[in-house]
Amino acid sequence: MPYNLKKYLKEKYKVKDEIITIYEKAMDEIKDKFVEIEEVKESNTIKILDAFQNERVSEAHFQNTSGYGYGDLGRDGLDRIYANVFNTESALVRPHFVNGTHAIFSAIFGNLRPGDTLLAASGRPYDTLHNAIGIGKKTGIGSLKDYGIYYKEILLKEDFSIDIEKIEETLKEDKTIKMVHLQRSRGYSFRESLSISSMEKAINKIKAIDDNIIVFVDNCYGEFVNEIEPTDVGADLIAGSLIKNPGGGITTSGGYIAGKNPYVEQAAFRLTVPGIGSECGSNFGVMRNMYQGLFLAPLITMEALKGSILCAKMGELLGYETLPNSSTSRSDIVQAIKLRSPEKVIEFCKWIQYSSPVDSYVTCEPWDMPGYDDQVIMASGSFIQGSSIELSCDAPIRDPYIAYYQGGLIFNQAKVGIILAYNSILNL
Ligand SMILES: *Cc1c(COP(=O)(O)O)cnc(C)c1O
Repeated sequence: MPYNLKKYLKEKYKVKDEIITIYEKAMDEIKDKFVEIEEVKESNTIKILDAFQNERVSEAHFQNTSGYGYGDLGRDGLDRIYANVFNTESALVRPHFVNGTHAIFSAIFGNLRPGDTLLAASGRPYDTLHNAIGIGKKTGIGSLKDYGIYYKEILLKEDFSIDIEKIEETLKEDKTIKMVHLQRSRGYSFRESLSISSMEKAINKIKAIDDNIIVFVDNCYGEFVNEIEPTDVGADLIAGSLIKNPGGGITTSGGYIAGKNPYVEQAAFRLTVPGIGSECGSNFGVMRNMYQGLFLAPLITMEALKGSILCAKMGELLGYETLPNSSTSRSDIVQAIKLRSPEKVIEFCKWIQYSSPVDSYVTCEPWDMPGYDDQVIMASGSFIQGSSIELSCDAPIRDPYIAYYQGGLIFNQAKVGIILAYNSILNL
Protein backbone atom coordinates (compact mmCIF):
# COMPACT_ATOMS: atom_id res chain seq x y z
CA MET A 1 0.00 0.00 0.00
CA PRO A 2 1.49 3.33 -0.97
CA TYR A 3 1.41 6.00 1.71
CA ASN A 4 0.21 9.48 0.93
CA LEU A 5 1.34 12.26 3.26
CA LYS A 6 -1.90 14.22 3.43
CA LYS A 7 -4.13 11.16 3.67
CA TYR A 8 -1.90 9.68 6.35
CA LEU A 9 -1.93 12.84 8.45
CA LYS A 10 -5.67 13.30 8.14
CA GLU A 11 -6.52 9.70 8.96
CA LYS A 12 -4.03 9.05 11.71
CA TYR A 13 -3.90 12.46 13.37
CA LYS A 14 -7.07 14.21 12.20
CA VAL A 15 -5.01 17.10 10.90
CA LYS A 16 -7.31 20.01 10.15
CA ASP A 17 -8.01 21.00 6.54
CA GLU A 18 -6.88 24.54 7.26
CA ILE A 19 -3.39 23.27 8.11
CA ILE A 20 -3.19 21.12 4.99
CA THR A 21 -4.18 24.10 2.87
CA ILE A 22 -1.52 26.24 4.51
CA TYR A 23 1.06 23.52 3.99
CA GLU A 24 0.24 23.34 0.27
CA LYS A 25 0.38 27.09 -0.14
CA ALA A 26 3.68 27.24 1.72
CA MET A 27 5.24 24.49 -0.42
CA ASP A 28 4.23 26.33 -3.55
CA GLU A 29 5.67 29.65 -2.38
CA ILE A 30 9.06 28.32 -1.33
CA LYS A 31 9.83 26.37 -4.52
CA ASP A 32 12.40 28.88 -5.75
CA LYS A 33 14.35 28.73 -2.52
CA PHE A 34 14.92 25.03 -3.07
CA VAL A 35 16.67 25.74 -6.36
CA GLU A 36 19.25 27.93 -4.58
CA ILE A 37 19.73 25.22 -1.97
CA GLU A 38 20.55 22.66 -4.64
CA GLU A 39 23.40 24.82 -5.91
CA VAL A 40 24.98 25.21 -2.47
CA LYS A 41 24.66 21.48 -1.91
CA GLU A 42 26.44 20.73 -5.16
CA SER A 43 29.26 23.16 -4.46
CA ASN A 44 29.92 21.76 -0.99
CA THR A 45 29.60 18.14 -2.12
CA ILE A 46 32.27 18.64 -4.76
CA LYS A 47 34.49 20.53 -2.33
CA ILE A 48 34.40 17.62 0.10
CA LEU A 49 34.78 15.00 -2.63
CA ASP A 50 37.89 16.79 -3.85
CA ALA A 51 39.34 16.86 -0.32
CA PHE A 52 38.74 13.11 0.09
CA GLN A 53 40.46 12.39 -3.20
CA ASN A 54 43.41 14.63 -2.40
CA GLU A 55 43.85 12.72 0.84
CA ARG A 56 43.63 9.36 -1.02
CA VAL A 57 41.12 8.07 1.51
CA SER A 58 40.88 4.31 1.64
CA GLU A 59 39.62 1.52 3.89
CA ALA A 60 42.82 1.90 5.92
CA HIS A 61 41.61 5.29 7.17
CA PHE A 62 38.64 3.67 8.86
CA GLN A 63 40.54 1.28 11.07
CA ASN A 64 40.56 1.33 14.84
CA THR A 65 43.68 2.24 16.78
CA SER A 66 44.52 1.71 20.42
CA GLY A 67 46.41 3.10 23.36
CA TYR A 68 48.28 6.32 22.61
CA GLY A 69 47.10 6.30 19.04
CA TYR A 70 50.42 7.48 17.63
CA GLY A 71 50.43 7.86 13.87
CA ASP A 72 46.69 7.29 13.54
CA LEU A 73 46.23 7.48 9.77
CA GLY A 74 42.47 8.00 9.92
CA ARG A 75 42.62 10.69 12.58
CA ASP A 76 45.44 12.64 10.96
CA GLY A 77 43.90 12.27 7.49
CA LEU A 78 40.57 13.62 8.71
CA ASP A 79 42.32 16.62 10.27
CA ARG A 80 43.86 17.38 6.86
CA ILE A 81 40.51 16.94 5.09
CA TYR A 82 38.77 19.36 7.45
CA ALA A 83 41.63 21.82 6.99
CA ASN A 84 41.24 21.48 3.23
CA VAL A 85 37.44 21.89 3.30
CA PHE A 86 37.57 24.89 5.63
CA ASN A 87 40.54 26.37 3.79
CA THR A 88 42.76 26.51 6.88
CA GLU A 89 46.31 25.50 7.79
CA SER A 90 45.21 22.96 10.38
CA ALA A 91 42.26 21.24 11.94
CA LEU A 92 41.57 19.11 14.97
CA VAL A 93 38.65 16.70 14.57
CA ARG A 94 38.14 14.46 17.55
CA PRO A 95 35.62 12.12 19.13
CA HIS A 96 37.25 13.18 22.39
CA PHE A 97 35.38 16.46 22.37
CA VAL A 98 32.28 15.66 24.39
CA ASN A 99 30.20 18.27 22.55
CA GLY A 100 30.40 21.53 20.64
CA THR A 101 30.85 23.57 23.80
CA HIS A 102 33.94 21.55 24.63
CA ALA A 103 35.50 22.23 21.21
CA ILE A 104 34.62 25.93 21.43
CA PHE A 105 35.96 26.25 24.94
CA SER A 106 39.19 24.44 24.05
CA ALA A 107 39.73 26.85 21.18
CA ILE A 108 39.11 29.85 23.41
CA PHE A 109 40.81 28.77 26.62
CA GLY A 110 43.79 27.25 24.81
CA ASN A 111 44.61 30.57 23.22
CA LEU A 112 44.10 32.94 26.15
CA ARG A 113 46.35 33.59 29.14
CA PRO A 114 45.75 35.34 32.47
CA GLY A 115 45.34 39.05 31.90
CA ASP A 116 43.93 38.63 28.38
CA THR A 117 40.43 39.69 27.51
CA LEU A 118 37.87 37.83 25.43
CA LEU A 119 35.58 40.19 23.53
CA ALA A 120 32.23 38.71 22.52
CA ALA A 121 31.36 40.92 19.58
CA SER A 122 28.02 39.44 18.52
CA GLY A 123 26.33 39.66 21.88
CA ARG A 124 26.22 37.17 24.69
CA PRO A 125 27.56 33.77 23.59
CA TYR A 126 25.53 30.56 23.58
CA ASP A 127 24.08 29.57 26.96
CA THR A 128 26.39 26.63 27.69
CA LEU A 129 29.41 28.94 27.53
CA HIS A 130 28.23 31.25 30.31
CA ASN A 131 29.54 29.17 33.17
CA ALA A 132 32.72 28.42 31.23
CA ILE A 133 33.39 32.12 30.71
CA GLY A 134 32.44 32.99 34.28
CA ILE A 135 29.23 34.91 33.61
CA GLY A 136 26.83 32.12 34.61
CA LYS A 137 25.48 31.04 37.97
CA LYS A 138 28.26 28.62 38.88
CA THR A 139 31.44 29.95 40.44
CA GLY A 140 34.73 28.43 41.46
CA ILE A 141 34.64 25.84 38.67
CA GLY A 142 37.77 26.86 36.79
CA SER A 143 36.09 29.26 34.38
CA LEU A 144 38.04 31.79 32.32
CA LYS A 145 37.26 34.29 35.04
CA ASP A 146 38.73 32.00 37.70
CA TYR A 147 41.96 31.98 35.67
CA GLY A 148 42.09 35.77 35.45
CA ILE A 149 40.86 36.00 31.87
CA TYR A 150 38.57 38.97 31.41
CA TYR A 151 35.41 39.18 29.40
CA LYS A 152 33.65 41.98 27.56
CA GLU A 153 30.70 41.93 25.23
CA ILE A 154 29.22 44.12 22.53
CA LEU A 155 25.62 43.59 21.56
CA LEU A 156 24.45 43.40 17.99
CA LYS A 157 22.70 46.50 16.73
CA GLU A 158 18.93 46.65 16.67
CA ASP A 159 18.87 45.40 13.06
CA PHE A 160 21.00 42.42 14.17
CA SER A 161 24.09 43.72 12.40
CA ILE A 162 27.55 43.69 13.97
CA ASP A 163 28.34 46.97 15.75
CA ILE A 164 31.64 47.57 13.98
CA GLU A 165 32.14 51.10 15.30
CA LYS A 166 31.74 49.93 18.87
CA ILE A 167 34.16 47.05 18.26
CA GLU A 168 36.78 49.40 16.80
CA GLU A 169 36.38 51.79 19.70
CA THR A 170 36.70 48.98 22.26
CA LEU A 171 39.74 47.45 20.57
CA LYS A 172 41.49 50.81 20.45
CA GLU A 173 41.01 51.53 24.12
CA ASP A 174 41.53 48.04 25.55
CA LYS A 175 44.84 46.48 24.55
CA THR A 176 44.24 43.36 26.66
CA ILE A 177 41.77 42.04 24.10
CA LYS A 178 43.43 39.01 22.59
CA MET A 179 40.45 37.30 21.02
CA VAL A 180 37.22 38.42 19.40
CA HIS A 181 34.36 35.93 19.53
CA LEU A 182 31.67 35.90 16.86
CA GLN A 183 28.76 33.50 16.86
CA ARG A 184 27.42 32.68 13.43
CA SER A 185 24.18 31.06 14.55
CA ARG A 186 21.46 32.69 16.63
CA GLY A 187 21.66 30.39 19.64
CA TYR A 188 18.71 31.02 21.93
CA SER A 189 18.36 34.63 20.96
CA PHE A 190 15.85 36.07 18.56
CA ARG A 191 18.27 37.46 16.04
CA GLU A 192 19.52 36.78 12.52
CA SER A 193 22.51 34.52 12.00
CA LEU A 194 25.64 36.35 10.89
CA SER A 195 26.14 36.21 7.14
CA ILE A 196 29.57 35.38 5.79
CA SER A 197 29.81 38.82 4.21
CA SER A 198 28.96 40.63 7.45
CA MET A 199 31.63 38.61 9.25
CA GLU A 200 34.11 39.44 6.50
CA LYS A 201 33.54 43.17 6.96
CA ALA A 202 33.98 42.94 10.71
CA ILE A 203 37.08 40.77 10.43
CA ASN A 204 38.72 43.22 8.02
CA LYS A 205 38.14 46.09 10.43
CA ILE A 206 39.45 44.13 13.40
CA LYS A 207 42.55 43.02 11.49
CA ALA A 208 43.20 46.58 10.37
CA ILE A 209 43.46 47.61 14.03
CA ASP A 210 45.61 44.71 15.14
CA ASP A 211 46.43 41.72 13.01
CA ASN A 212 47.41 39.69 16.09
CA ILE A 213 43.92 39.65 17.52
CA ILE A 214 42.50 36.18 17.06
CA VAL A 215 39.08 36.19 15.45
CA PHE A 216 37.23 33.13 16.63
CA VAL A 217 33.89 32.09 15.14
CA ASP A 218 31.49 29.69 16.82
CA ASN A 219 30.45 27.96 13.60
CA CYS A 220 27.79 25.66 15.11
CA TYR A 221 24.82 25.10 12.78
CA GLY A 222 26.48 27.15 10.05
CA GLU A 223 28.61 24.56 8.25
CA PHE A 224 27.70 24.02 4.59
CA VAL A 225 24.71 26.33 4.69
CA ASN A 226 26.64 28.62 2.34
CA GLU A 227 29.26 27.91 -0.30
CA ILE A 228 32.03 29.40 1.83
CA GLU A 229 32.85 29.40 5.52
CA PRO A 230 34.07 32.08 7.97
CA THR A 231 37.65 30.85 7.49
CA ASP A 232 37.37 31.72 3.78
CA VAL A 233 36.94 35.36 4.75
CA GLY A 234 39.67 35.72 7.36
CA ALA A 235 38.47 34.08 10.57
CA ASP A 236 41.53 32.69 12.38
CA LEU A 237 39.80 29.91 14.23
CA ILE A 238 36.41 28.18 14.12
CA ALA A 239 34.83 25.35 16.06
CA GLY A 240 31.68 23.28 15.94
CA SER A 241 29.85 20.12 16.92
CA LEU A 242 29.85 16.83 15.03
CA ILE A 243 26.30 16.04 16.09
CA LYS A 244 25.23 19.03 14.05
CA ASN A 245 25.85 19.82 10.36
CA PRO A 246 29.36 18.41 9.74
CA GLY A 247 28.47 15.02 11.21
CA GLY A 248 25.88 14.49 8.48
CA GLY A 249 23.57 12.81 10.97
CA ILE A 250 25.71 9.73 11.37
CA THR A 251 28.80 10.85 13.30
CA THR A 252 28.06 9.65 16.80
CA SER A 253 29.95 12.26 18.82
CA GLY A 254 32.73 14.81 18.80
CA GLY A 255 33.74 18.26 17.70
CA TYR A 256 36.14 20.06 15.41
CA ILE A 257 38.38 23.08 15.42
CA ALA A 258 39.95 24.54 12.28
CA GLY A 259 42.18 27.53 11.72
CA LYS A 260 45.70 28.87 11.71
CA ASN A 261 48.27 26.34 12.80
CA PRO A 262 49.51 27.92 16.06
CA TYR A 263 45.99 28.53 17.30
CA VAL A 264 44.79 25.01 16.51
CA GLU A 265 47.87 23.67 18.24
CA GLN A 266 47.17 25.67 21.41
CA ALA A 267 43.63 24.33 21.39
CA ALA A 268 44.99 20.78 21.05
CA PHE A 269 47.22 21.37 24.08
CA ARG A 270 44.09 22.30 26.00
CA LEU A 271 42.14 19.25 24.77
CA THR A 272 44.88 16.80 25.72
CA VAL A 273 48.10 17.92 27.43
CA PRO A 274 50.46 20.86 26.84
CA GLY A 275 53.31 19.43 24.80
CA ILE A 276 51.31 16.46 23.48
CA GLY A 277 48.36 18.08 21.74
CA SER A 278 47.02 16.41 18.61
CA GLU A 279 49.59 13.64 18.41
CA CYS A 280 47.90 11.40 20.95
CA GLY A 281 44.42 9.90 21.06
CA SER A 282 43.22 6.60 19.65
CA ASN A 283 40.06 6.75 17.65
CA PHE A 284 37.72 4.17 19.28
CA GLY A 285 36.83 2.82 15.85
CA VAL A 286 34.64 5.78 14.94
CA MET A 287 36.61 6.98 11.94
CA ARG A 288 34.29 5.51 9.33
CA ASN A 289 31.30 7.38 10.71
CA MET A 290 33.29 10.61 10.97
CA TYR A 291 34.40 10.40 7.34
CA GLN A 292 31.06 9.27 6.01
CA GLY A 293 29.28 11.89 8.11
CA LEU A 294 31.34 14.67 6.59
CA PHE A 295 30.74 13.30 3.12
CA LEU A 296 26.97 13.33 3.69
CA ALA A 297 26.96 16.69 5.46
CA PRO A 298 26.13 18.94 2.47
CA LEU A 299 23.11 16.76 1.62
CA ILE A 300 21.85 16.47 5.17
CA THR A 301 22.38 20.15 5.93
CA MET A 302 20.26 21.05 2.94
CA GLU A 303 17.49 18.63 3.95
CA ALA A 304 17.47 20.42 7.30
CA LEU A 305 17.38 23.80 5.60
CA LYS A 306 14.34 22.85 3.53
CA GLY A 307 12.53 21.97 6.75
CA SER A 308 13.44 25.31 8.29
CA ILE A 309 12.13 27.21 5.29
CA LEU A 310 8.84 25.31 5.29
CA CYS A 311 8.57 25.82 9.04
CA ALA A 312 9.08 29.56 8.58
CA LYS A 313 6.61 29.85 5.72
CA MET A 314 3.83 27.96 7.47
CA GLY A 315 4.44 29.97 10.63
CA GLU A 316 4.13 33.20 8.68
CA LEU A 317 0.94 32.08 6.97
CA LEU A 318 -0.44 31.32 10.42
CA GLY A 319 0.49 34.78 11.68
CA TYR A 320 3.61 34.10 13.75
CA GLU A 321 6.73 36.18 13.69
CA THR A 322 9.65 34.11 12.39
CA LEU A 323 13.40 34.58 12.25
CA PRO A 324 14.71 34.30 9.67
CA ASN A 325 11.61 34.78 7.58
CA SER A 326 11.07 32.37 4.72
CA SER A 327 12.56 34.64 2.07
CA THR A 328 15.75 35.77 3.86
CA SER A 329 19.05 34.18 2.87
CA ARG A 330 20.38 32.01 5.65
CA SER A 331 23.66 31.37 7.40
CA ASP A 332 22.50 28.65 9.81
CA ILE A 333 19.88 25.90 9.90
CA VAL A 334 17.97 27.20 12.92
CA GLN A 335 14.43 28.47 12.59
CA ALA A 336 13.04 30.59 15.39
CA ILE A 337 9.25 30.93 15.70
CA LYS A 338 7.87 33.35 18.25
CA LEU A 339 4.91 31.44 19.67
CA ARG A 340 4.24 33.82 22.56
CA SER A 341 2.92 31.34 25.11
CA PRO A 342 4.49 28.58 27.18
CA GLU A 343 1.61 26.23 26.27
CA LYS A 344 2.25 26.65 22.57
CA VAL A 345 5.99 26.19 22.88
CA ILE A 346 5.53 22.99 24.87
CA GLU A 347 2.85 21.61 22.57
CA PHE A 348 4.88 22.45 19.46
CA CYS A 349 7.91 20.62 20.81
CA LYS A 350 5.83 17.62 21.90
CA TRP A 351 4.56 17.12 18.36
CA ILE A 352 8.01 17.34 16.85
CA GLN A 353 8.93 14.57 19.28
CA TYR A 354 5.87 12.48 18.32
CA SER A 355 7.00 12.76 14.68
CA SER A 356 10.40 11.20 15.30
CA PRO A 357 11.63 7.75 14.28
CA VAL A 358 13.02 7.12 17.79
CA ASP A 359 11.16 7.74 21.06
CA SER A 360 8.06 8.86 19.18
CA TYR A 361 5.87 7.66 22.07
CA VAL A 362 7.65 9.91 24.55
CA THR A 363 6.19 13.20 25.73
CA CYS A 364 8.93 15.75 26.29
CA GLU A 365 8.84 18.22 29.15
CA PRO A 366 10.86 21.24 30.29
CA TRP A 367 13.75 20.39 32.63
CA ASP A 368 16.86 21.87 34.25
CA MET A 369 19.47 20.95 31.67
CA PRO A 370 23.16 21.06 32.60
CA GLY A 371 24.71 24.29 31.37
CA TYR A 372 21.47 26.23 30.93
CA ASP A 373 20.08 28.82 33.34
CA ASP A 374 16.39 28.61 32.35
CA GLN A 375 14.41 25.41 32.08
CA VAL A 376 14.60 24.05 28.55
CA ILE A 377 12.29 21.76 26.63
CA MET A 378 13.96 19.63 23.99
CA ALA A 379 12.30 17.50 21.38
CA SER A 380 14.82 15.16 19.92
CA GLY A 381 13.68 11.72 18.93
CA SER A 382 17.01 11.02 17.37
CA PHE A 383 19.29 8.09 16.61
CA ILE A 384 22.12 9.99 18.27
CA GLN A 385 21.27 11.41 21.67
CA GLY A 386 20.64 15.15 21.48
CA SER A 387 21.62 15.33 17.83
CA SER A 388 20.14 18.49 16.45
CA ILE A 389 20.94 17.86 12.81
CA GLU A 390 18.16 15.32 13.26
CA LEU A 391 14.63 16.69 13.52
CA SER A 392 14.53 18.59 16.78
CA CYS A 393 13.06 21.58 18.46
CA ASP A 394 14.00 23.25 21.68
CA ALA A 395 12.98 26.22 23.70
CA PRO A 396 14.08 27.85 26.90
CA ILE A 397 10.94 28.44 28.93
CA ARG A 398 11.15 32.21 29.02
CA ASP A 399 9.30 35.16 27.62
CA PRO A 400 8.53 35.66 24.67
CA TYR A 401 8.38 31.89 24.23
CA ILE A 402 10.31 31.17 21.11
CA ALA A 403 10.67 27.69 19.65
CA TYR A 404 13.98 26.95 17.96
CA TYR A 405 13.41 24.36 15.28
CA GLN A 406 16.17 22.65 13.37
CA GLY A 407 17.36 19.56 11.61
CA GLY A 408 15.65 16.67 9.89
CA LEU A 409 17.67 14.05 8.05
CA ILE A 410 14.93 13.68 5.47
CA PHE A 411 12.78 16.66 4.50
CA ASN A 412 9.75 14.42 3.99
CA GLN A 413 9.85 13.42 7.65
CA ALA A 414 10.38 17.01 8.73
CA LYS A 415 7.13 17.85 6.91
CA VAL A 416 5.25 15.43 9.16
CA GLY A 417 6.69 17.10 12.26
CA ILE A 418 6.06 20.64 11.06
CA ILE A 419 2.47 19.95 10.03
CA LEU A 420 1.62 18.14 13.26
CA ALA A 421 3.31 20.81 15.39
CA TYR A 422 1.35 23.65 13.80
CA ASN A 423 -1.81 21.57 13.84
CA SER A 424 -1.45 21.07 17.59
CA ILE A 425 -1.34 24.78 18.37
CA LEU A 426 -3.95 25.95 15.86
CA ASN A 427 -6.63 26.69 18.39
CA LEU A 428 -4.55 27.09 21.56
C1 LIG B 1 24.88 23.87 19.71
C2 LIG B 1 25.66 25.09 19.88
C3 LIG B 1 26.81 25.12 20.65
C4 LIG B 1 27.37 23.92 21.35
O1 LIG B 1 26.43 23.15 21.94
P1 LIG B 1 26.70 21.64 22.40
O2 LIG B 1 25.36 21.23 22.85
O3 LIG B 1 27.70 21.71 23.47
O4 LIG B 1 27.18 20.87 21.23
C5 LIG B 1 27.49 26.30 20.74
N1 LIG B 1 27.09 27.39 20.09
C6 LIG B 1 26.00 27.40 19.32
C7 LIG B 1 25.60 28.64 18.60
C8 LIG B 1 25.24 26.25 19.18
O5 LIG B 1 24.18 26.25 18.40
